[in-house]
Amino acid sequence: MDKIVSLSKRRGFVFQSSEIYGGLNGCWDYGPLGVELLRNVKDQWWQSMTYREDIEGVDAAILMHPRVWEASGHVENFTDPMVDCKECKARFRADQIEDSPCGNPAYKGRKASKCQVEGKFTEARQFNLMFKTFIGPMEDSTAVVYLRPETAQGIFVNFLNVQAASRQKPPFGIAQIGKAFRNEINTKNFLFRTREFEQMEMQFFVKGGSDEKWFEYWKEQRMAWFLRLGMTKAKLQFHRHEPDKLAHYAKDAYDIEYEFPFGWGEIEGIHNRTDFDLTRHEQYSGKSMKYYDEETKERYTPYIIETSAGASRSFMAFLVDAYREEQAPTADGKMETRVVMRLHRRLAPIKAAVFPLVNRDGMPEIARNIELALRPHFRVFYDDSGAVGRRYRRQDEAGTPYCITVDSQTLQDQTVTVRERDTMKQERIASDALGRYLRERLAE
Ligand code: ATP
Repeated sequence: MDKIVSLSKRRGFVFQSSEIYGGLNGCWDYGPLGVELLRNVKDQWWQSMTYREDIEGVDAAILMHPRVWEASGHVENFTDPMVDCKECKARFRADQIEDSPCGNPAYKGRKASKCQVEGKFTEARQFNLMFKTFIGPMEDSTAVVYLRPETAQGIFVNFLNVQAASRQKPPFGIAQIGKAFRNEINTKNFLFRTREFEQMEMQFFVKGGSDEKWFEYWKEQRMAWFLRLGMTKAKLQFHRHEPDKLAHYAKDAYDIEYEFPFGWGEIEGIHNRTDFDLTRHEQYSGKSMKYYDEETKERYTPYIIETSAGASRSFMAFLVDAYREEQAPTADGKMETRVVMRLHRRLAPIKAAVFPLVNRDGMPEIARNIELALRPHFRVFYDDSGAVGRRYRRQDEAGTPYCITVDSQTLQDQTVTVRERDTMKQERIASDALGRYLRERLAE
């Protein structure tokens, strides 16, 4: 993890939030490469979800009516048990003490569970994870609103709006990508558990009775998505929630877990939420949330199958999965270690880099023209500094799939070399065929 965190900072994937002020715990900023990677993850998800006829998109407000969170159960139930150490004042989630180190730097390497056995902890108190703020100028209890802790509720409350506007009939889904906020007691493991993060959620509305079939379908679809984007199969697994561990709304739930350097962790949850959400919103709002089927003349409350992925957690899983240290030959035949981010081409922040071999003989001008021709279609990067070997290494670390070099042969026959990131193989291509060459490969 240390290597990933340091590469992230050095290369501009992720920075600590407000770093010059010492950082803000649980918050991170995405740098130039990170913002592209994150967008690509979200775009791939959006495409896979909404480029089909049975799913529509929404983008709901982050602030919602406070009754939403009473209906959803968050005001009452969205809590974690918290304990404090009376000696060093560190704060822990009571259900994570086993995995937590002691907070006192004087006891380096000591586990928090040891302090617990020694009776240093307070009784557990329930702590609500929702961030509160006030709407309007009066900071009193009638003005309290919450920063949404999940995007799902913005979908549930819009169920009938979307259904009527798009003339969809169950089974159909609504997808949303957006920020969510949780005042986590302990943030840890880089982007894994943060206080501000992004979710990619899709709620699929089905008739009760067909819910188990659709649950299976979405479980398989979601695993296939991670695999299609190149994630290592052996590092992905399903984890089924035991019946006694199911959330209050769930009939069945699976997590898709990724094996991070610190162990297996959930990156997405697939839940059969039954008719809980729409029933609750009907009760709390007094408005019918039932669907009326014109054909069968039936009125019913749909069941919901939810796929709930963290965009930031998936980002981190893609980053970790892509990281490789490999032996590679240098220009003078020696071997050196290259760090390469084997990101799937669709996710790579920069698609191609263009280099003039040397900064003379008209090569920079030709390289600049190639860059200009490609720029409207792909994110490209121009680099003319240092030996070509070093330029390759820099692009390997950024995960750039193709490097295009203009050399002396280009001056004679208008061909360039294209070097592929993973195999490091080079081929000569006519420079005017580059657009098609890249388009074909990047679409794979
Ligand atoms: P956990 O048990 O890890 O707290 P959860 O079961 O509460 O997660 P869900 O409510 O199912 O998570 O949220 C769906 C997804 O949102 C998770 O799979 C994860 O990818 C992401 N997510 C949830 N909490 C965080 C967080 N604090 N930081 C980053 N991503 C998060």
